Amino acid sequence: MSIKVNLDDCIGCGVCAELCPQSFKLDELEGKSLVISQEVTAAVKEAADSCPVSAIEIF
Ligand code: SF4
Repeated sequence: MSIKVNLDDCIGCGVCAELCPQSFKLDELEGKSLVISQEVTAAVKEAADSCPVSAIEIF
């Protein structure tokens, strides 16, 4: 499985990085989330469910 952030949709709110800092990092300059680990954990799923614009894809 892998994780992708749809950068067109991401609004840089930081929720994913807060819930799952081992997998997501907020690029403060771009205002977008970066995926830093492809390991799909329960926290990654929680982050995906919590993203306000549903920008996190697990596939
Ligand atoms: Fe972007 Fe969604 Fe993460 Fe917020 S929770 S930074 S909108 S991917």
